[in-house]
Amino acid sequence: MHRYFTDQRHEALRRRVREFAEREVRPRIAEMEAARTVCHDLSRLIARQGWIGATVHRAYGGMGAGHLAKTLIIEELARVSGAMGAMVQASQLGAAKIIHFGTEEQKKTWLPAIASGDCLPTIAVTEPQSGGHVLGMTGTAVRDGGDYVLNGRKIYVGNSHVGDLHGVVMRTSEGPAGLSAFLVEAGSPGLRVGGQRPAMGLHGFGFGELFFDDCRVPAANLLGREGDGLSVAYSSSVLYGRPNLTAVSLGIHQAVLDETARFCTERERYGKPLSALGNIKIKLGRIQSRLLTARLAAYHAVHLLDQGAPCDAELMNAKLVNVETALESARDAMDIHAACGLFTDRPVERYLRDAHHIFAPAGTSDVQLLRLGELALGTAKGEWSSRLSDLVRKEPAEDGAGGVPESAPAGRHGSVLRERAELRPTG
Ligand SMILES: Cc1cc2nc3c(=O)[nH]c(=O)nc-3n(C[C@H](O)[C@H](O)[C@H](O)COP(=O)(O)OP(=O)(O)OC[C@H]3O[C@@H](n4cnc5c(N)ncnc54)[C@H](O)[C@@H]3O)c2cc1C
Repeated sequence: MHRYFTDQRHEALRRRVREFAEREVRPRIAEMEAARTVCHDLSRLIARQGWIGATVHRAYGGMGAGHLAKTLIIEELARVSGAMGAMVQASQLGAAKIIHFGTEEQKKTWLPAIASGDCLPTIAVTEPQSGGHVLGMTGTAVRDGGDYVLNGRKIYVGNSHVGDLHGVVMRTSEGPAGLSAFLVEAGSPGLRVGGQRPAMGLHGFGFGELFFDDCRVPAANLLGREGDGLSVAYSSSVLYGRPNLTAVSLGIHQAVLDETARFCTERERYGKPLSALGNIKIKLGRIQSRLLTARLAAYHAVHLLDQGAPCDAELMNAKLVNVETALESARDAMDIHAACGLFTDRPVERYLRDAHHIFAPAGTSDVQLLRLGELALGTAKGEWSSRLSDLVRKEPAEDGAGGVPESAPAGRHGSVLRERAELRPTG
């Protein structure tokens, strides 16, 4: 066991992702920052490494490597590019609903394609009138013979523009039990992707709009049963969204520390490195301290998920601590850089912008605090990590050593989506 619950195979995976990120992702950052649009080819290249299937069982072509391994993958990508960390987290989040609620047929059809990188999944819950208030959604799905007909508009959908398979939650009847989830293939008639809206940060990643206008979906694409939509949304958000976004924040936070420490030693003031100033050293010490605490909270929470242990509180706390401390550290880094930090030839202003994007999804910090408050009062409503523990627990390694393969078996299931692509309607 290394520090922070990782073993040798976790660390080998970390090295592999880090090398990939330095080689393939870092050279593309300037282009992504300038274009401010979704980077299709890099998203696909990353998916082809097999990392979207980190928690997909090996029986379905996935890595079967567990949640801590998933965190390391996202963290190492986000250390170089918050956008590509966000792209991977959103795709893994999209896989969760099939892992948790898919029928055997749906799992066999989609999980191998997700694991091989042929299929990038999404989850589309948010609407203009319903962010944190999921039950406020008004988009509808109406049964019509062997199909459901979907109408509505989803916003802020992670990977909206690169997604191949959208997991869409719509209203099938009134009330909390009136939401249902559907798998909708990109390119389905009646589904339109909105234009790309430039955002403050995460350039290269898209979280845009999907419009459903009499979009017909076979009833076989219903996830779980009618009425399971709220559970699909919440379980994905709690068990994948929170730890995944935690990992993006953690990667950005590490980059903030690395870059600021380098800056302090290279920049000279009063004939000495800037780091010789006591207040600068204290600020750097604060960043280091926050990062140690944030990493511990992040890895501990997903380690518990891997064990199948109850950990909703730890997952919430990890997101809260990571988002807030990464923002505080990015602010300190800007202070230390002073005027230098304002220019785009240095990455520190990008870290600050990217860190802000992790605040809202899977619950703002106030929402995490509200849930933690309910826990303290004994009024919390059940735990997803307990309810789905059999589905989230890490599978034993093939050699029985609890190991982590470095990637999914290459090409084993590469043909699935190609076969399906032929079935996919165009237009
Ligand atoms: C980078 C990014 C990626 C995203 N990816 C996805 C995705 O893949 N799929 C998807 O469906 N959505 C996605 N979202 C949307 C995200 O889930 C919403 O932003 C989130 O649910 C919050 O909704 P909102 O932004 O509309 O804020 P609101 O919910 O409108 O919140 C506004 C304010 O009210 C507060 N508030 C909200 N509810 C409460 C409450 N109950 N009690 C007290 N205060 C409250 C909030 O803290 C906030 O300050 C993404 C967003 C971002 C920024």
